[in-house]
Amino acid sequence: MIAAIDIGGTKIAGGLVDADGTLHHRVERPTRRQAAGAGEVFATVAEVVADLAADPRWTRVERVGVGSAGPVDIGKGTVSPVNIAAWRDFPLVAEVRALPQVAGAPVALGGDAVAMTAAEHWRGAARGFANALCLVVSTGVGAGLVLDGRVYAGPTGNAGHLGHITVDLDGEPCPCGSRGCLERMASGTAIAGWAVAQGWRPPADGATAAAVADSARAGDAVALAAFDRAARALAAGIAATATLVELDVAVLGGGVLRAGELLLEPLRRHLRSYATLPFTRHLAVRAAELGTDAGLIGAAALALH
Ligand SMILES: [Zn+2]
Repeated sequence: MIAAIDIGGTKIAGGLVDADGTLHHRVERPTRRQAAGAGEVFATVAEVVADLAADPRWTRVERVGVGSAGPVDIGKGTVSPVNIAAWRDFPLVAEVRALPQVAGAPVALGGDAVAMTAAEHWRGAARGFANALCLVVSTGVGAGLVLDGRVYAGPTGNAGHLGHITVDLDGEPCPCGSRGCLERMASGTAIAGWAVAQGWRPPADGATAAAVADSARAGDAVALAAFDRAARALAAGIAATATLVELDVAVLGGGVLRAGELLLEPLRRHLRSYATLPFTRHLAVRAAELGTDAGLIGAAALALH
């Protein structure tokens, strides 16, 4: 049994995952984003571990896997999540190992997109593929790589971070310091922002990618163009990756994928014009299968493999 922890800006989840990748027990608490100190944020992690340890199966736990919002540094065991201001170079691995219930057991750390990649490769849409790119398209765009059958995280754990490769040379400045980043064109935030800038009128409850998707389904030309533009940017990024490392499959998950074929249909179409070399043309595009459990199953995969 593996204890899995999934740390995001909104919630901190925990689960017990067996060696087959089945999630047996799940707990969740809100992240104290407004907390004054790093220790206060970590107190929620400690509570989640205590919740898990109350389960009788905890006695079979031999290792712990942690997936966290990034950036992470798996070499140092630290995290600096953009959405959790109190944690900068926070020594998450050492703190989790020091919890009385964990008692020094091995703790593996990964970024959330790499964890999702590990989960989809183990139990989801990338299963059986030796070379995969898995993307999380939500308020940002994260991604991870499987190469030669193994998750490739890189020295600090951030390899495959496709959201911050440039797909538009003269594009908008990005908070990362670069410009024309894929995330600035394909995230849910970018889809809604571009649609508004082009004259789309959002509903009263806000300009979200889900609302743009509703308008696109109703035939709104700007909303359809917003998804087409995002799909085109994703296609350029995926094609570049396929050309760089030779991919068998691209798997897409995250909240924006609730739009389904509104995004996937133009993505496959644009991929045909960007992934043109013979060794890239067979690339399959699939929707992720594990949904919100991917973070926990992936954290367990990182601990096990
Ligand atoms: Zn960027």
